[in-house]
Amino acid sequence: MQGPLALESFAIIGEELAIRWKDGIETYIRLEELRRHCPCAVCAGEKDLLGHQYGGSPKLSPNSFVLKSCAPVGGYALQPVWADGHSSGIYSYEYLRSWDSGAEE
Ligand SMILES: [Zn+2]
Repeated sequence: MQGPLALESFAIIGEELAIRWKDGIETYIRLEELRRHCPCAVCAGEKDLLGHQYGGSPKLSPNSFVLKSCAPVGGYALQPVWADGHSSGIYSYEYLRSWDSGAEE
């Protein structure tokens, strides 16, 4: 498989985001996991060299885990819009695709 990851389609199914890639692989990500791993500066904060976390303690509510919509960005990422109004997280395809390997059962 050469070249960048390509998205075939995605759908919000219950409490999961289901992604189908052009190579036939499917990735399922729980919405709560997705939000808790939001890569934006507000949510992720910054770490120093020792791993101490600064910032990155967003206020989460039940609406924080409700996905209103999700839009592709520039052919390389998805940008979810959450019911609590948060939408600054841009999840690259590589980030989403790597979810499987890091997932715990
Ligand atoms: Zn965020």
